[in-house]
This record gives sequence, C-alpha cells and structure tokens, in this order.
Amino acid sequence: MKKLEAPNFDDLDILRDMSGEGNPLYRRWNLIESIRGAYGNYDVQRGNGHQIGAAVSITDSAKFAILSCVKNWSGPLGVFEDIRFNLSPDVCPMCGSFSTTSIDHVIPKELYPEFSFYSKNLVPACSCNSKKLLNFIGSPNERVLHPYFDEVLRKRLIVSSFGRPLDSMTISVVVAPDLDELQSEVIFHIDKLIKNERIAGYFSCEFKKIWTLPDHYFNNVQTLTFDIMKVELERKLHRLDEEYGTKNNWKSALYSGILLDEEVLRYIFNKLQNI
Ligand SMILES: [Zn+2]
Repeated sequence: MKKLEAPNFDDLDILRDMSGEGNPLYRRWNLIESIRGAYGNYDVQRGNGHQIGAAVSITDSAKFAILSCVKNWSGPLGVFEDIRFNLSPDVCPMCGSFSTTSIDHVIPKELYPEFSFYSKNLVPACSCNSKKLLNFIGSPNERVLHPYFDEVLRKRLIVSSFGRPLDSMTISVVVAPDLDELQSEVIFHIDKLIKNERIAGYFSCEFKKIWTLPDHYFNNVQTLTFDIMKVELERKLHRLDEEYGTKNNWKSALYSGILLDEEVLRYIFNKLQNI
C-alpha cells in the first residue's frame, strides 16, 4: 500500500490513437465525448468506487467495443508499460509486497469498461489483483483504497498481529490500532487484497530472521539489553518506512506490530539471549 502521484498521460489522445486501422473504437461509436465525461467524473469522485458510476452514460455496444480493445493490449497502449515497470518497482501500492508484475484496474474493467484505458485507473500491482477481482466495493463505507487519490495511505494503516502461543508463528495482518479515519475502508482493503497465506508466510519467515541472523539487525548482540533492542527495532522500522516511501510495506507492517506487543518483544529478547 502506497500513496503515489498519478501518472500524467493524455488519456483522450491515447483513445484517439486506438481509432486507427483495424480498431473501430472511436470511428464507429464516436465515444470520445462520453468517455471524456466519464474520466472527468472519475477525477471528481477521486476514484471512489461507490460514486464513479453515477454520472456515466455509455451504451452497451460502446462498452462491448472498449472491452474488445482490452484484448489488444499493445500498440499505443504500450505507453502504460511505464506504469507497470517504473511507477513503483519496489513496493506494490495496492498491498505493500515487494514486487509489481502487472497492472491493476482499481475499478474493474469488467464492470466499467470505460475506465479500461484511463491512466488514473491503472496502478502497478503484484498478484494481489487476482485476489481482488471484482471485489472493489462492499457496503457504503467499504471500498478498496486508491493509490492516486487516498491521502490516508500516507499513514500507518497495517500492522502484524501475533497469535498465541508465540511459538505457533501464526502472524496475521490487521488494521493499525490508532488509525482514526476510514477504518471500514481499510479493513475492507485488507480483507480483499492483503490477508492471505502469502503475507502470513512472509511475516513468519522475516520474524525468525531477527534471532537467526541477529547481526543483520543489531549493532552488538553480546551487549544488547532489552531497551537497546527495542530502540534498534524502532530505528529499523523508521529506516524501512523511508526506504520504501510508505509505512505500509510488509516489512514495516511486521516491525510495527512487533513494537506494539510487549510479549513479542520479550520473546525475541529471550531468543537472542539463547543464541
Ligand atoms: Zn500487491
């Protein structure tokens, strides 16, 4: 999860390019004006999935025409490869993992084909977009957060949570306990995009490294006290937040959850004493 600056494309120009030989989208249906309105409404509603559909009027035949073009994701649409590879190559802005291998339509193209080629609806993403599918909204306060529009993404939204007993290594992702806005939206986003075996496995793997590879985490394990350990973990969390440009990368989520749980800190300290 990461707040990104929206890409700056001439989206209507891209649509016009698609009206070339063999692509009847623009010439046959003359959609540009109606899509211009849809794009404008998307911006006004800041990509909020509950509202962006309200003011859009596009015929079914036009939607079919656009979807038929989605299959030809090449030619002028190659411009969007910049979103896939360059906009956030080190962290997934949708879930906080550490890769972006595809492009996600925040508002699903299957339901809103008019946003299939709108750059502000296209975000770099990892495989989490195959978990989301059409689940972009729920009840009125439930929706997927939008990396280009939701400023709340600059806050710490997700933390790890440790099941008991701690030896069971059952670590999940939950909403940050001090979050004071958009809790329902964040919980929905976590459920639909992030919470699965993949992040649980990642948390467990990274957690064990703290005492199996202690030199990677602490200046001097031999002289480490509980308080120094805590300070060094806090420092590591701060560095991770800066390194990835978001407090909601998976490593930061793990460490912020550790620092919230005194029992987990004691558990780590005991492990470090026994190496
Ligand atoms: Zn992801």
